[in-house]
Amino acid sequence: MRLILLGPPGAGKGTQAKKLMERHEIQQLSTGDMLRAAVRDETPIGLKAKDIMIRGDLVPDDVVVQIVEDRIQMDDCGNGFILDGFPRTVAQAEALETMLHRHGLDLDAVVELRVDEAVLADRVEKRVAEMGGAAREDDTVEALRHRLNVYRQQTAPLIDHYRTTGKLRTVDGMQEIDEVANDIQRILDEARSERVRAD
Ligand code: AMP
Repeated sequence: MRLILLGPPGAGKGTQAKKLMERHEIQQLSTGDMLRAAVRDETPIGLKAKDIMIRGDLVPDDVVVQIVEDRIQMDDCGNGFILDGFPRTVAQAEALETMLHRHGLDLDAVVELRVDEAVLADRVEKRVAEMGGAAREDDTVEALRHRLNVYRQQTAPLIDHYRTTGKLRTVDGMQEIDEVANDIQRILDEARSERVRAD
């Protein structure tokens, strides 16, 4: 199973990806996590990405596309994967389509977690308070506001992009975590039966 989780920062993509990963034995591919690891390890990619990430801007498309292409070819992705935080631009979505076709793969679904953006800043403030300070350098209210703007301008157009391809499914991300997970599961069950009917 291969799917994309789409939604603004703080929408709960990571939480849902972890649940799906346990349930379906597929990999969570979070480009944010991979980039943070590169920054920590001071790799050439990490050195390039560090300041961009602290500002809350997007790392260049070619960098993240290459990271994802390398990752999906690893053995542990044989069962499938959840893309969390990728694609974030239409150019990344197009590169993803090309790379999946090249590897003979297809997406099962694109799930949009729709949330009330006004509530997101509260969630981040709460997270920061619980951790006794920002857990991530970009986990400040100012950086979140910037990341939300970047999302609106560069990532939100993906919703129309995937609506056009007929793959988009929308879930109310303001519900309790388990309710969101149940809605996603229903979508995946539907996608599976549609695939069986098409075969
Ligand atoms: P995230 O953990 O998904 O919120 O990502 C943290 C930061 O990593 C983002 O604010 C970007 O700077 C960078 N990043 C993660 N994924 C991407 C992507 N697909 N394209 C560009 N930059 C990304």
